[in-house]
Amino acid sequence: MQISANMVVSIDYTLTDDQGTVIDSSEGRGPLAYLHGCNNIIPGLENALEGKSTGDSLQVKVLPAEGYGERSDDLTQAVPKEMFEESDSIQVGMQFQTMTDSGPQVVTVIAIDDEHVTVDGNHPLAGENLNFDVTIVEIRQASAEEIEHGHVHGPDGHDH
Ligand code: ZN
Repeated sequence: MQISANMVVSIDYTLTDDQGTVIDSSEGRGPLAYLHGCNNIIPGLENALEGKSTGDSLQVKVLPAEGYGERSDDLTQAVPKEMFEESDSIQVGMQFQTMTDSGPQVVTVIAIDDEHVTVDGNHPLAGENLNFDVTIVEIRQASAEEIEHGHVHGPDGHDH
């Protein structure tokens, strides 16, 4: 069976940055199952998997445009400290979820001074090249319900 739209694909993967540091991996968690053709995973990886078969291994380099996008300085913002309830406990590196016009967004604290907390709304992997080492573990046809929902059901997917 080859990967095409509306198939459930299970992959083992390791993701490293250009310095060789492991960012994410399925090791210890079991394979990641996703619905092919439904933007469940980043476009660069999904496109590379198209047409591949069970047991295939591949290495994929995904550039930011096909990954988590380029970094944008517009997404960095200095917020007055009094906007935070417990401003004394805020530390660089902490992450918060905020509501924006385009939906929920995770921001990371990148600087703190006496009056302001500077937050960065870029995805932590924005601007990074993503190096995937992928092995295809299983491919199956998606159920009609999975296709309708746009995601995978079952032990590795949504449990509803
Ligand atoms: Zn569902």
